[in-house]
Amino acid sequence: MDLVEVTEGRTRFFVPRQDPGLQFPPGNAPVFYNPRMELNRDTTVLLVTLLRPRDYLDAMGASGVRGLRVAGEAGIPVTINDRSERAADLIRHNVETSGLEIEVTCQDANVLMSGRRFDAVDLDPFGTPAPFTDSAARSAGNYLFVTATDTAPLCGAHLPAGMRRYFSRPRNTEYHAEVGLRTLLGFVVREVIRYDRGVEPLFCYAHEHFHRLHLRLRSGAAAADRTLARIGYVMQCPGCLYRTEEAGILPEPADCPLCGARLVAVGPLWTGRINDDQTLAAMQEALPSVTAGTAPRISRLLSTCRQELDTSSHYDHHVLAGSLRVSPAGIESVIERLRSLGYSASRAHYSGTALKTDAPLPLLQEVISGG
Ligand code: SAM
Repeated sequence: MDLVEVTEGRTRFFVPRQDPGLQFPPGNAPVFYNPRMELNRDTTVLLVTLLRPRDYLDAMGASGVRGLRVAGEAGIPVTINDRSERAADLIRHNVETSGLEIEVTCQDANVLMSGRRFDAVDLDPFGTPAPFTDSAARSAGNYLFVTATDTAPLCGAHLPAGMRRYFSRPRNTEYHAEVGLRTLLGFVVREVIRYDRGVEPLFCYAHEHFHRLHLRLRSGAAAADRTLARIGYVMQCPGCLYRTEEAGILPEPADCPLCGARLVAVGPLWTGRINDDQTLAAMQEALPSVTAGTAPRISRLLSTCRQELDTSSHYDHHVLAGSLRVSPAGIESVIERLRSLGYSASRAHYSGTALKTDAPLPLLQEVISGG
């Protein structure tokens, strides 16, 4: 393999030389490495530095960069696994040159996770994590981290694939990034709670072409029941922009109070908070003391997540303005106006035109129209 040395954070490692003419996704390299996932890795290294799990499994290592960084930068005992022999060889080479003590295994991740427990398990597969979540849910002691890059099925753009993988009906709405993140979270949660364990989201976000979950697991049926209570639906009107949220496993059929059309269920998905504010605050505080190439972007992401409302959908400011045939004013002025009227309002972390509020839709429309 023709290798080049790369540095991420404080970690130096080797990856296959890639044809610079190739566009994303990194297509034909013998072992996968995507520099565009640096933010994804930076945030996890930052978080595990704070959480300090007893040990950490990088279940799909590829070059091993993620596990190498967790071991070298956070000082956590790490196992790096990949099913591919070529990947495992490269991981061993990277571990040797790093001088770190890291266990390297070359197994199907499901086989490895079925036989062993790790305090933190990290899934970073090609596309969907769905085939790995059951064994990860059984293997993970206190923490489960999951990446999904199959955003089209998750967001409802490829409905049959979304239903097959996540046993949910995501639907393609203007708030599809939110639906994708919550569909993934709802699915992972359902995989965990059947083992009488609960889930607390610590830091979950949608970014560019991926969704990322960092979850704390809790023991006991009571914790699982509290988690189950957060599974629900967004009930979306197919005729107008009205939507509401409903908890529970079977949504009640209802009509839109604004236009009378029968509401359509989006889900099941996770409702409620997707972040733990104390964790985000601690990450903000620790960020200046870690080496992260994407630190300015992480800082913006954390700030936006901290002010973001917990609603499971957002309104798109431009879609709303377009439907009212007005040119959109600044989104900040809309948010300020809603707050001055006594409602909660915020931006969302994954889109500059996303607006979250608990104000009723007719009032929001009035504000956007200049009222
Ligand atoms: N975590 C890596 C990083 O941050 O650069 C990227 C991982 S890459 C997206 C997915 C990896 O999963 C590939 O190296 C592939 O060989 C490996 N893989 C695919 N199926 C697997 C399985 N069933 N068990 C273990 N590894 C698997």
